[in-house]
Amino acid sequence: MNRIKRALITGSTSGIGLAIAHQLAVSGIDLVLHGLESTTEGDALAEAFRKQHGVEAIYVQADVSQAENIEKMMSQITEQVGPITILVNNAGIQHTASVDTFPPEKWDKIIAINLSAAFHTSRLAIPAMVEQGWGRIINISSVHGLVGSVNKSAYVAAKHGLVGMTKVTALELAAKGVTANCICPGWTDTPLLVEQFKAYAQQNNTGYEEAKQGLIKAKAPYPDFVSPADIGQLAVFLCSDAAKAITGTSMPIDGGWTAH
Ligand code: NAD
Repeated sequence: MNRIKRALITGSTSGIGLAIAHQLAVSGIDLVLHGLESTTEGDALAEAFRKQHGVEAIYVQADVSQAENIEKMMSQITEQVGPITILVNNAGIQHTASVDTFPPEKWDKIIAINLSAAFHTSRLAIPAMVEQGWGRIINISSVHGLVGSVNKSAYVAAKHGLVGMTKVTALELAAKGVTANCICPGWTDTPLLVEQFKAYAQQNNTGYEEAKQGLIKAKAPYPDFVSPADIGQLAVFLCSDAAKAITGTSMPIDGGWTAH
């Protein structure tokens, strides 16, 4: 059967999303890259993917904190290249503060970007997946979809929410050739963690590199960061035929963090 394999990876201009995009492209999957960067920067990135991997690649810019932006983005993609059959919900932000001092507007933004955006992209992408009888939804949750940490109420709530939404999506689509799973990374060295590295260095009076090691040791027995490319490889596996019966799961790739 000739399946369309075209992936939208939200937040794919940096960090984990960019690495997932590279690994999917290596396996021959056409891409829709997405981010907040200008179309000039994004188009240049898409061009680099086309040259490096020989796949189709376009870039769409959208702030996914608003449902209407996501609706426009999904229509734009369908008009430009056709339907999405692999959806990787990866865009995310972080803010740390105790519950009693957490700014309500930051709470709303984290829930909008880290959770509600995945609902909106899913509801808009699912019909085409069901129509072709094959699709993959991969939600980038976190160890914080499985356990909590202090000062991360909004992030932990959103990531647990993704785990729950993924289970429901999986149940609804299991008989239709469409799987839905979460990947739950532990510490991964990306721009998302910069503020936490700085705060740890300040609180513990250490250098920046020592702060990175200190944060790893505080949570995970594996003595290094999770590699973004390894997360990408897990996404590639979830897109393969061998993963057709894997659905509704939340897979840690966390250096043993959640084994505690
Ligand atoms: P990152 O900052 O490199 O990537 C986040 C991406 O999301 C960026 O491309 C950014 O432009 C995009 N984004 C943020 N707000 C957006 C908005 N309003 N509209 C559109 N795009 C927006 O960080 P990362 O670590 O690669 O994060 C990717 C995902 O991985 C996030 O969901 C994050 O929660 C998750 N994660 C990260 C870690 C880690 O240790 N870095 C661990 C577990 C889970």
